[in-house]
Amino acid sequence: MSSDCLFCKIVAGSIPAKRVYEDELCLCFADIHPQAPTHLLMISKRHIGSLVEAGAEDAALLGHLLAKTAEVARGAGLERGYRVVINTGPNGGQTVDHLHLHLLGGRHMTWPPG
Ligand code: AMP
Ligand code: ZN
Repeated sequence: MSSDCLFCKIVAGSIPAKRVYEDELCLCFADIHPQAPTHLLMISKRHIGSLVEAGAEDAALLGHLLAKTAEVARGAGLERGYRVVINTGPNGGQTVDHLHLHLLGGRHMTWPPG
């Protein structure tokens, strides 16, 4: 827990969120400013600042986040597909410094991203 981290506060329950899935390792909740009809965030309950800080010792946790994101997507009616995004660092557009996967679906996604 990083005491000044927004997403750690959501994990702790001191900031509310619409929680859609959680287990001992991860939490998935609705993005407050949805960019698609389905826009969820999947985070590790343990604070990791970004993918830059993730190492080989985090491989199992990162795999868990990805597998659980796919499971949530299967339950969310996204049969036509979806996009998973990890914005990383200033150039990557990361605004909350707690590693998170965006799950975006329910509309066609364009490429390349802006
Ligand atoms: P990023 O820009 O990749 O770091 O993504 C951060 C995301 O967190 C943005 O899509 C925000 O809309 C979202 N966000 C910020 N504050 C909250 C909050 N209190 N509850 C849910 N989502 C949030
Ligand atoms: Zn955090």
